[in-house]
Amino acid sequence: MPQSFDVAVIGAGPGGYVAAIRCAQLGLNTVCIDEWKSPQGKPSLGGTCLNVGCIPSKALLESSENFERAAHKFASHGIRVEGLSIDIPTMMSRKDKIVTGFTGGVAMLLKKNKVASMHGHGILLKGSKDESGNHNLWQIEVKNGDKTDTIEAKHIIIATGSTPRPLPFAQVDNERILDNTGALAMTEAPKRLGVIGGGVIGLEMGSMWRRLGSEVSILEALPGFLTAADEQVAKEAKKIFTRESGLVIHTGIRISGIKTGEKSITIEYANAGDADGNVQKLDVDKLIIAVGRTPHTHGLGAENIGLKLDDRGYIEVDSECRTNLSNIFAVGDVVRGPMLAHKASEEGVAVAETIAGQPGHVNLDTIPWVIYTSPEIAWVGKTEQQLKTDGVQYKAGQFPFMANGRARALGETGGFVKVLADAHTDRILGIHIIGPYASELIAEAVMAMEFAASSEDIARIVHAHPSLSEVLHEAALGVDKRAIHI
Ligand code: FAD
Ligand code: NAD
Repeated sequence: MPQSFDVAVIGAGPGGYVAAIRCAQLGLNTVCIDEWKSPQGKPSLGGTCLNVGCIPSKALLESSENFERAAHKFASHGIRVEGLSIDIPTMMSRKDKIVTGFTGGVAMLLKKNKVASMHGHGILLKGSKDESGNHNLWQIEVKNGDKTDTIEAKHIIIATGSTPRPLPFAQVDNERILDNTGALAMTEAPKRLGVIGGGVIGLEMGSMWRRLGSEVSILEALPGFLTAADEQVAKEAKKIFTRESGLVIHTGIRISGIKTGEKSITIEYANAGDADGNVQKLDVDKLIIAVGRTPHTHGLGAENIGLKLDDRGYIEVDSECRTNLSNIFAVGDVVRGPMLAHKASEEGVAVAETIAGQPGHVNLDTIPWVIYTSPEIAWVGKTEQQLKTDGVQYKAGQFPFMANGRARALGETGGFVKVLADAHTDRILGIHIIGPYASELIAEAVMAMEFAASSEDIARIVHAHPSLSEVLHEAALGVDKRAIHI
């Protein structure tokens, strides 16, 4: 007889492992199945986020930023650094230690919560049906090398995540042509680094390697830059990244070929604005491909049970993350919505609560976005361009970090906060930040929007002095043109 569970979770990324823990907290007998292996070939929980995503990238961004500060910013504080050098293998082993600390931590959390953990590849199989024709038990085959186990579960949560979108003419080998895994594991900074895709990964990885000494050229297909962000923020970001951070950013390009020679990789591209389609060439030593990610359903057995995918390969779900099949849910990168770890986790919690008969809920309209460049970029809610397209009348208040005491003390004065509020009701519709610690400041904005706050509400809240949060306060005051320090 196969082992039987209330809930089987496939995938132990931030969607899956969090869902499994919440299920167990709610008294459901739960198993979490995951196939990820560390570079040493050992099971490694935490999915993309912990192994090759959020955590290693932020560890390296921090190290590289410290190096940059020591090289260029300490002098103004009167701190002299002589003989500054960078030891990238040490930086990488620090990053690896942080990763293994967390991946091992997930294993401990599952154990502590009495979630059964199975290592292997999960394949969905038809289960048994009750008299009314509904499935009352689904089956999953778990393959680990030569070993195959079959388990049964009343409910399944699919949290199989995403994988890098391939570029047809660039074969990733993670030696010279890299995806995020390779980009996070180089042991020296290449002299010339190319990045295809000027999105979140391209900018974070490009910034990091530029700080460590690479000449970085980013090639972006869209004519605009960071089109998901508020236009004014994107414009400010491009200005800072190109003038101060030293990134070379080409937008509106069409790649026609990538040739891997013995000494360099040549990218052939044309500028979309060039009517003659003149081919330009860029020679680099290493190339990062970061052109988006695709939902991971390969080998899952969706076809075995009639699980519906949409035309882009995402598992189709409703607002409660229910698939077309009874008692099968899907969360995280494998379903619609932003591919963000916190979104995956919140969906995991909501689904666990729904299964336990509670009202699970995720508000996709207040998911914060953060890009960990320098300065950081963060936003929640609508951009100005979205409000204009939707014909919403709004008021805007804006305040620069340059006029903030804490930002001056930090020496991080670039950027601003912008608050967008409904012109009639004053309800906050969006908050956009480019500046120091935007990743932390955005939390107040999310909270305000979740509580349906008005700009007046933020304007009336006392913010500590001197703190970066005063910039948000002043931007809220600015909605009614009563900012004090400008
Ligand atoms: P994943 O984390 O991808 O986990 C899915 C798991 O399922 C994996 O372990 C996989 O091996 C396993 N799996 C798949 N199929 C099967 C199967 N059939 N059987 C068994 N196991 C299976 N997001 C942020 O919010 N903040 C960030 O700073 C951030 N930085 C990022 C940096 C990089 C370089 C990258 C690539 C991504 C980053 N992200 C970030 C995105 C974030 O990593 C994802 O949104 C998040 O990991 C999605 O979680 P998930 O649980 O849906 O899937
Ligand atoms: P992305 O969607 O952010 O950016 C991909 C970029 O590549 C886009 O700007 C797109 O126009 C461009 N592009 C696509 N095809 C191209 C081509 N042929 N030539 C040139 N440019 C091309 O995707 P990403 O940067 O790969 O990251 C994937 C996802 O991972 C992100 O959307 C995000 O959800 C997540 N992520 C989040 C964080 C964070 O939260 N800080 C960090 C990294 C990744």
